Amino acid sequence: MRTPKVLVIGLVLAGLTGCGTAVAAEGSPAWVTASPSPSRTHAPSHSASPFSSPSHRATHTPAHSSSPTSTATSTPPSRPTRRAHHGGPANSLMKTGQNGVALTFDDGPDPVQTPKLLDLLKQRHVKATFCLVGQNVAAHPGLVRRIAAEGHTLCNHTWRHSLTLGKRKPSAIRADLQRTNEAIRAAVPGAEIKYMRAPGGNFTPAFVDAATDLGMTSIYWQVDPRDWDHPAGESDDAHEAKVIRAVKKHVGRGAIVLSHDYGQPDTITAYQTLIPWLQQRYKLIALP
Ligand SMILES: [Zn+2]
Repeated sequence: MRTPKVLVIGLVLAGLTGCGTAVAAEGSPAWVTASPSPSRTHAPSHSASPFSSPSHRATHTPAHSSSPTSTATSTPPSRPTRRAHHGGPANSLMKTGQNGVALTFDDGPDPVQTPKLLDLLKQRHVKATFCLVGQNVAAHPGLVRRIAAEGHTLCNHTWRHSLTLGKRKPSAIRADLQRTNEAIRAAVPGAEIKYMRAPGGNFTPAFVDAATDLGMTSIYWQVDPRDWDHPAGESDDAHEAKVIRAVKKHVGRGAIVLSHDYGQPDTITAYQTLIPWLQQRYKLIALP
C-alpha cells in the first residue's frame, strides 16, 4: 500500500508541474471536441481522480455538464459510417454493441481495493473489464494474475496515466502502450489485451491508431457515475449513494460503465448494492 501511494503521489506532483495545460485542456478539452458527448454523466476529467488531492480535485471541476442541452451545440454531425456504439472521442467505443452491460474498473490494480472487488465479482459470478495502469501492474503483478485467472478482460490504461499522452508523437504513444502491455504480459504470459482506454477519455486519432496497430480497441464509456469526484464535504455514505443513483439512472442495454477500483473504497461498497440490482435487469458481461 505504501509504495504505490508514494509512487502515485510522486506522479501527481510530477504531473501537476506540467499539468497546467492538461488541467486547462480538460476544462476545455480541445483534443476531445470530437466527442459527441453522450449526454450521460461522463466527464473526461475523471482520470484526475485516482491521483487527486482535494486541491487537485478542485482544479478539475468537470467541464462537461451532464445536461444534454448544454452539450448539444458541440455535437458534430454523426458520420454515416460510424457504428452506433462507436460514439466516443476519436470514434472510440461507448457501448458494448450487444445487450449486455459492461462494468469497467480503471487505474488499478490497487492492493487493497482490487482484491475486495474481485471477491465481490466472484461471489456474484460477474466478469468485468479492468483498465490497468502499467506502473501499478509492475507493482502488483500477482493481482493482475488473479484478474486474468478469474476470467476478467484486460485493458491497457497507459503506463503512468498521462492525461496528455494522446497529444504526443505517435512513436511515444506506441512505446507507452507497448511498455504497459509488456508489464501485463510479464505478469500473465501470453495475456490477451484487447482494449485500451485513454486516461481521462482523452483519445486522439493518433492514440486510437496506435492502439489499433497493437490489436486493441479503444473504449470510452456511456455511463460515468463520477466515483472519482468525492468533494471534501461529502460523506462517504452520500458519495456511495450518489454513485448508486447515477448508475441506476443512466445505465441501459449495452452500456459501458466507468468506475474505479484504484483508491475508491466507496465504489466497491456501491457495487455491493449495484451488482444485484443490475443483475435483475441486465446481463453483465466482460467486454469480449
Ligand atoms: Zn483512469
